[in-house]
Amino acid sequence: MEFDFKGQTAIVTGGTRGIGRAISEAFLKAGAKVIATYRSNEEEAKNFKEANAAHAECLEIYKFDVTCYDEVENFYKEVENKHGDFQIVVVSSGIRSDSIVGMMKEEDWNNVIDTNLTGTFNISKLAVQYMMRQKYGRIIALTSPIGKLGFAGQANYAASKAGQVALVKSLSKEVASRKITVNCVSPGFIDTDFISDLPDEQRDAYKKQIPLKRFGSPQDVATPVLFLASKESSYITGSVLEVTGGL
Ligand code: NDP
Repeated sequence: MEFDFKGQTAIVTGGTRGIGRAISEAFLKAGAKVIATYRSNEEEAKNFKEANAAHAECLEIYKFDVTCYDEVENFYKEVENKHGDFQIVVVSSGIRSDSIVGMMKEEDWNNVIDTNLTGTFNISKLAVQYMMRQKYGRIIALTSPIGKLGFAGQANYAASKAGQVALVKSLSKEVASRKITVNCVSPGFIDTDFISDLPDEQRDAYKKQIPLKRFGSPQDVATPVLFLASKESSYITGSVLEVTGGL
């Protein structure tokens, strides 16, 4: 699928590895300027930068924690001062920290909710403030079907992902009159570090349950994200696009 994002700038949180990296690279290939962000993994950020050296003039990388409102605010100030307008924000930063509820540490609950839900709030809140003035924008958050289905051992993750959908749907109604669309993409099992701890036996069992009989690649998710980010998707807002291989 050919996209044309020339003249547009896309911010991608968690954009230096996993699904976010594939999204950043797809935007670069489609002619966008990309501002990719990460929290702490310097090595992967360096690998990402080196692998995309051909697009160096269109790529900026920033390090901050999406849970920290002040850091997010400083990031947007710097983006506005140094890079000017941006049209697209993709929230691909996320973590999981699994445990059954009866054994879950308060810290694991808080970290997952803070990163996945409050992080999406921080990033989206400051993005819409800017986009409202611009009267245009595209915001896309990566959620998960687990938010809808629930999963033993992932109550914190499921709650954070369901919360993201509720946030996105509400926000989409607040900003629609300014031509800002806000949507979710909901991937199934995607082969990244995020699920690299799954034992082979479990991976095989999950694959059997997926109608397309395979885990998705990060690129499988990037294409639907670019579709929702395109100017052509102007009548889609408050929606959740599932990219699950039919699961
Ligand atoms: P990865 O673990 O590969 O990448 C996560 C990214 O998020 C990293 O770049 C990481 O930064 C960044 N990040 C994590 N915490 C923070 C934070 N506090 N502040 C800023 N950045 C942060 O995950 P995936 O790419 O696989 O997942 C991306 C999104 O997709 C997540 O929201 C996840 O819930 C969702 N998803 C993934 C699925 C999968 O099977 N992979 C399935 C369904 C949904 P750093 O590199 O510095 O660690």
